[in-house]
Amino acid sequence: MEFHIVLVPIGEIEKKLLEKLQAELGLIFYPLQVTISEAIQIPKQAYNSERQQYHSQAFLNALIKRVNAKSSKFLGITSLDLFTNGLNFIFGQAIIDGNVCIISTHRLRPGFYGQPYDEKIFVERSTKEAVHELGHSFALKHCSNPHCVMYFSNHILDTDRKSKNFCEKCLSQIIKKTNPYREPINK
Ligand SMILES: [Zn+2]
Ligand SMILES: [Zn+2]
Repeated sequence: MEFHIVLVPIGEIEKKLLEKLQAELGLIFYPLQVTISEAIQIPKQAYNSERQQYHSQAFLNALIKRVNAKSSKFLGITSLDLFTNGLNFIFGQAIIDGNVCIISTHRLRPGFYGQPYDEKIFVERSTKEAVHELGHSFALKHCSNPHCVMYFSNHILDTDRKSKNFCEKCLSQIIKKTNPYREPINK
């Protein structure tokens, strides 16, 4: 199957971040195509006023409605703070081996931790979380290697420590799933 990755801004997302993600994901998931779609609206029912956060499932549901082909992997990107039941917050969520996933940039901004804005760090963190969630959508589970992108980030320090790439073991699974003849450039 010829998979295709679609970046879907949910609400307002800087064009620059979308373009950088498109380029980074294009390298990591080569030779899959990565495109940017029109933005969709923030699902109104997602907001939880008590927590002042947004329930990620409502975002996944909004994305599921857009899926038009089994071969498409939709990655939603929101700047809002996401949570899911049982967790204080999440950097992202995916349906394992499904067609949709989401990342939140809310806690990826250095400003969230009282640090000055740094575009490089912000883009790097966003890339790692995007690759991680897309990895889940290609059926990958969490990896015990703390430098592998599939390592579970419980804290921003986990995100900063891991790389944006798959370890050898995870990479071989991705290659099997996407295209057995692919030449990984970004190993
Ligand atoms: Zn995960
Ligand atoms: Zn791994």
